[in-house]
Amino acid sequence: MKKILFSFLFVFLLLVVTLFIKTASFKSKQISTAEGIRIDYPIDEAAVKHLSDAVKINTVSFDDTTIVNQLASDSFFAFLRTEYPSVFENLEDTIINKRSLLLKWKGKNESINPVIFYAHLDVVPIEESTKAKWKYAPFSGNVADGFIWGRGTLDDKGSLIAIFEALKKMQHNQFIPSRTIYFAFGSDEEIGGSNGAKVIAEYFRQQKTRFEFYLDEGGMVSRGLVPNMTRPVALIGTAEKGYITLDLTVNAKGGHSSHPDKETALDILVSAVKKVHDNPEERRAVATVNEFMNFVGPEMSFPLKTVFANRWLFEPLILNEYEKSAEGLALLRTTSALTIMNAGLKENVIPSLVNAKINFRILPDENSDQVQQRVVKIVDDDRVKITRGEVYEPSKQSSTTALGFNLLQKTCATIFPDAIVSPFLMLGSTDSKHFQDLTDNTYRFFPVRMDAELLETVHGINERIGVKDYMETIAFYESLFQSLE
Ligand SMILES: [Zn+2]
Repeated sequence: MKKILFSFLFVFLLLVVTLFIKTASFKSKQISTAEGIRIDYPIDEAAVKHLSDAVKINTVSFDDTTIVNQLASDSFFAFLRTEYPSVFENLEDTIINKRSLLLKWKGKNESINPVIFYAHLDVVPIEESTKAKWKYAPFSGNVADGFIWGRGTLDDKGSLIAIFEALKKMQHNQFIPSRTIYFAFGSDEEIGGSNGAKVIAEYFRQQKTRFEFYLDEGGMVSRGLVPNMTRPVALIGTAEKGYITLDLTVNAKGGHSSHPDKETALDILVSAVKKVHDNPEERRAVATVNEFMNFVGPEMSFPLKTVFANRWLFEPLILNEYEKSAEGLALLRTTSALTIMNAGLKENVIPSLVNAKINFRILPDENSDQVQQRVVKIVDDDRVKITRGEVYEPSKQSSTTALGFNLLQKTCATIFPDAIVSPFLMLGSTDSKHFQDLTDNTYRFFPVRMDAELLETVHGINERIGVKDYMETIAFYESLFQSLE
């Protein structure tokens, strides 16, 4: 008995020592470990007016691609040329495919790889039924209550105009970067980017350009979004999930609903769709999510720091916690969502041809072929034809030790001294997918503070950017460009 007790005690002590050693060696990856105080940048009224005016130019992209608003792009470019003459004087500008803009800021040393900053100038439409819920009209660009209001302020004109403001200041100071910096502004990110980003990327492909790094929208300086973190977290997207829509089609005997077959086309389809829904993938923490935990874990207090430092033991606990929210769950598996069903025309007629679309967001450790094979296996019914719709493979994972990440991290430490920095996995899709092969390092980060409430306004109601937050965004870009001297 005594012997057993001693072995238990020994194992327990060993465990405590292991937990302790692991926690002690779980070192912070932050540049400055002490929490700084938020900086108050003076309000630049001209910059506020510029963003407000940019919102007023309605650059909505519609899913119906036959609706192209050339006039909006033309007026947007005319606005930029009028308001930022020094930028257009010193940088070389090219219009790509009529509606996208490319600027080249020639560096001192053309033998080193250039970098590229990207923003899109289109916005999503306003749902008719939500119009009345906006506090200020969505294209008013109203400045009130400490915010600039309107569609595009957070996605993505706030970033675009902040880049121009920073560029303007730097022309004033006659700054010339050491490496060439490109700025690309695509016309149609909200509908996939095939006429904007895709064409811009092709332009660079033909020139055989390789970028040191690429920066696009994506993460932000989040407040209260990372569970158990009190400090703001600057989330820099270092990988992006893939995308595939699978089309499930069943063609069977139709006819009068008074004498149906045992299983109609619709019955077969519904059962297939349900099988897919009921058989989700095993949850798992992919490399980017593990890296995220390595960045945020050391900043947590006891006992959470110990939990994150000892994931060999506690990973299931952490995943259980993440799994509680839809966003958290989406980090842990390839998700599937039934988005469209087409079937039936009349209540007393059995439809013969029925179809469903299931949209999958693919984790970076698998690809679209694997997802399709898995679905075929789960459905396991030859009567269901499964074909692929639109596909984007998941991105590669970008480095957290390369120049681009280092500069972003340093700039965050300067401009957002109260925040910590972490890589993270982007759940949604950005135009960066078109540039995948042109660089090893793609980062997705819009340097602006956002909490859950503001995040909700993106593509939603009452989209707005804090005036003080926007000043930080401008300061961030200025500081980042400066670090490319
Ligand atoms: Zn966007």
